[in-house]
Amino acid sequence: MFRKIVNIIPKDFHPRALVVAITVLLRAILNFFGIAMLVPLLMLILDFEALQANPIVTEVYNLLGCKSHSQFVIISAVAIVCFIALKNATNLWLYNFERNFTYDLYGHLSRKLYIDYYHRGLLYVADHNSTELSRNVNFVCLNFVIGILKPSMAIVGEIIPFALIIIAIIFYDPTASILLALTFVPAVWIYYSFVKERLHRYGQQENQAQREKFRNVAESFRGYVDVEISNAFPQIISAFDNATDRLVTLRKRDATLSTIPQGITETSLAAGMAALIIVGAFMPERKIGLVFGLFAVAAVRLLPSIRNILTSLTAIRYNLHTIDTLSEIKSQSHSVEDTQQRIHLRKQMEIRNISFRYSENASNILNDFSLTIKQGARVGIRGASGAGKSTLMNIMLGLYTPYKGEILIDGVKLDHSTRRMWQNNIGYVPQNVFLLDSTLIENIALGVDSDQIGYDRVMEVVEMASLKEFVERLPNGLNSHIGEAGCRVSGGERQRIGIARALYKRPDILFFDEATSSLDRATEQSINSSIEELSAQNSNITIVAIAHRESSLEYCDQIINIERL
Ligand code: ADP
Repeated sequence: MFRKIVNIIPKDFHPRALVVAITVLLRAILNFFGIAMLVPLLMLILDFEALQANPIVTEVYNLLGCKSHSQFVIISAVAIVCFIALKNATNLWLYNFERNFTYDLYGHLSRKLYIDYYHRGLLYVADHNSTELSRNVNFVCLNFVIGILKPSMAIVGEIIPFALIIIAIIFYDPTASILLALTFVPAVWIYYSFVKERLHRYGQQENQAQREKFRNVAESFRGYVDVEISNAFPQIISAFDNATDRLVTLRKRDATLSTIPQGITETSLAAGMAALIIVGAFMPERKIGLVFGLFAVAAVRLLPSIRNILTSLTAIRYNLHTIDTLSEIKSQSHSVEDTQQRIHLRKQMEIRNISFRYSENASNILNDFSLTIKQGARVGIRGASGAGKSTLMNIMLGLYTPYKGEILIDGVKLDHSTRRMWQNNIGYVPQNVFLLDSTLIENIALGVDSDQIGYDRVMEVVEMASLKEFVERLPNGLNSHIGEAGCRVSGGERQRIGIARALYKRPDILFFDEATSSLDRATEQSINSSIEELSAQNSNITIVAIAHRESSLEYCDQIINIERL
């Protein structure tokens, strides 16, 4: 487990992790001295004569010029209190390193996981539940630092002074240390072996229940109309209630288990004291007081320490599942490509003998497929549903990589190094145009910072996509909010927004993926004539459209049929 945790911490955080390890150690040692200082104080009160026999103490006594025992006690007590106050202030300062490290690491991991998921590509994203990916990025990373890292540091920070105190007491008085060890060690061991497996299981079950809750909520809002019309909400709410009930039960159990350490430690302390009284019957009277005092001082510090160790162990067991999720992060860090460069299409795009399948065991969707698209051509790709049209389009867009063959754009091979530059030159209109929860203008200029948006260009593409009337009807024109799922726009308007978006960046090539398939005939014809018109006015633009209906490809001058293999 330790190895896994270290692997999760990125390399550039390792030097800081080392500093944090040192601060944890320093704090632990300071804490030990904090408690160790109370012992001389206790001895001053209970066994001053024994202390006086110590030459160093006598030296200090004389150096301070003390006139009486009580004067020495007061000066020593004040000095010890000052030391402890100083120790706590230093402790607080050292704690900053730990705190900053954990939360900065959270920010870093969350970003890294997000970018890593994103770079796994369309195949991975399409195969995974988006709510779960977003939960991992936002919550699992936080649970890892709060539920694994912080408690691990707490354990190290507690165990060291604990061990030092026990060792110190062994040297001073073995009876007290044996009693302390006999009191706490079995209690901790019994508790931990009782809850260990349970907590790991509860943690996994909670993770599962949380996932279901998130998914239910997200799906019911995303698919509101379908959910409402199919009367699926009662079923969804019942699944939601079921997950909530499980979560609540697990949380209750976890809360109960977390309170047990306090009871255990207090009971152990009482048992220890009782044992001490019994053992004390066989000790000289003066010694009992001291051993009892030592025991009490140690227990005052050891009690919360043990409680803290147990609570931290509980948290770690509960959050173990986060380690598996984060271990998946690829170690190489991805940079977010933001080049503005383009690969232009001035002559032709050649698709040469490509073969594609979704996995090694699956059958081919495309087999030795070739096609040449000349600049300015209007190519329609037709085929039955499931023939592989969208797959082909995703390959042309650079989102899928064929296992055989290649695509050349004016002779430049499309691969991961040229993909971004090719995509910078592509306009793409899918069947369901994705709308941001934002204004119309930001939706048209998707990916452009709001202060960089070219208003004139937006107006130009609004005209080209025949959206002008729609914009004029909106209360705030281009600045009107169009909502997350774009509920306030019709199917045709949505596709026109998609066309305006595709045109905004002045692409050399436009791809339409069943862009008008879900529209009524009249709207489809009207959009098709807009596309035809913009193609006539911009004869350099190449158009590739795929559709299962011939009517969706009216404006194309070359039709390719693809068949299901
Ligand atoms: P079309 O666009 O012509 O309707 P697609 O290209 O979407 O066809 O799909 C072609 C075949 O590939 C279908 O049988 C489909 O089930 C399969 N397919 C599509 N996407 C995936 C995927 N992500 N994983 C596995 N199979 C897929």
